Amino acid sequence: MKQQQPPPLPQSQPPSLSGGGGAAAAAGVGAGAAAAAEVNAVANAISLAETAKSRPPLYPKPKTPSFDKDRDYIGFATLPEQVHRKSVKRGFEFTLMVVGESGLGKSTLINSLFLGDLYKNRTVPNVEERIEKTTRIEKKTMDIEERGVRLRLTVVDTPGFGDAINCEDSWRVCTQYIDEQFRQYFTDESGLNRRNIQDNRVHCCLYFVPPWGHSLRQMDLDLIRRLHRKVNIVLVIGKADCLNKTEVRNLKERILQDLEDNHIQLYQFPECDSDEDDDFKQQDRELKASIPFAVVGSNTILEVAGKKVRGRQYPWGVVNVEDAEHSDFIKLRTFLISTHMQDLKDTTQDVHYENFRAQCISQISQHALRERGKLKRDSISSTNGFDAAISETDRLLLQKDEEIRRMQDMLTQMQEKLKQTHLMEMKKNDSVIDV
Ligand code: GDP
Repeated sequence: MKQQQPPPLPQSQPPSLSGGGGAAAAAGVGAGAAAAAEVNAVANAISLAETAKSRPPLYPKPKTPSFDKDRDYIGFATLPEQVHRKSVKRGFEFTLMVVGESGLGKSTLINSLFLGDLYKNRTVPNVEERIEKTTRIEKKTMDIEERGVRLRLTVVDTPGFGDAINCEDSWRVCTQYIDEQFRQYFTDESGLNRRNIQDNRVHCCLYFVPPWGHSLRQMDLDLIRRLHRKVNIVLVIGKADCLNKTEVRNLKERILQDLEDNHIQLYQFPECDSDEDDDFKQQDRELKASIPFAVVGSNTILEVAGKKVRGRQYPWGVVNVEDAEHSDFIKLRTFLISTHMQDLKDTTQDVHYENFRAQCISQISQHALRERGKLKRDSISSTNGFDAAISETDRLLLQKDEEIRRMQDMLTQMQEKLKQTHLMEMKKNDSVIDV
């Protein structure tokens, strides 16, 4: 499938947030959060100026056929535009799961990616709470609109993941949630009203690997192994500003080696079509080469050499989150939002959901087979019982028949005797008269 040509890599693409997602969406407006508001305001200003310069038309005008000149024109060339209009009208849904231990910069990154403030009222648990803590699922939704295109974004967070002393079951919560969403979709799809199904399936799982350590930990492998056939996993090295270039490269290599050794296949980038232009091919190559993305997140806008940048201020300088030399943040955002969001959804539908659906159907048919077998056995045994009941009735009937027949014989004998007696009586009377 041909990838849609991505827009030029944006410095900032601020969406407008509407309140459709309840508290979470309202959190995006963030009137109280001064920092987030500032971020949004500055980012809005940057983006508006940029998009005004290079904004492509939202709805390409369909070609009007001129029947005199264009005799060969049938009109189906406008089909892509028709599909485009319909999809834009319907809006889009995307669900992103974020998994990783607490403090790795997950919330900061999500806010930086979608220019919102999804975690305004968040409370961080203390040490005692964390010892006993179990992994929970926390879902936040925000409605984003950008150039007339509406996106309902759901972020599924897993607070408590890896926080407890015993983290063995952390992955269970994630797999259960993913399966539940598939099951719900399967039930909705098999129901009568299939028109307004809400798609809550997880389209992508951003798994955060810590920058410390030498490679993937047992706990990371445990989760990835259990999830990689259910969801598109994209690995992210959090807080990558803790590492220098060589360290980032080495860590990436070791992670990829670990995945290969454990036969784990994460989300596979689709092959780039040969007719794509060179810029797109180059961008695709760079994205693939950057995996796992080493990211830095920040919700602060700083001024560097007269330019506003999203970054982290340190005593020795500024880490510019959007600078490709400092982090893969822009690559991750381009991949996740601008170039591969639809492919992540398609892979969820065509690969992961199909697997789940096939398993469900096979379980249902096995159950149906077992039920049929049971019914058959039951009906055989009840037929045998019926036969036994019939033969018993027959036996009784035969007995009765025999009794009736014997009584009829007796009756016939008695009638015969009576007849004889009567004849003898008659003869006796006749002889008396003769005398
Ligand atoms: P979460 O618990 O994984 O959601 O982590 P948070 O986003 O709440 O971040 C925890 C702390 O790390 C906060 O103090 C952030 O300011 C800081 N932080 C977030 N992202 C980064 C990053 O990329 N690099 C560094 N050095 N610190 C970060």
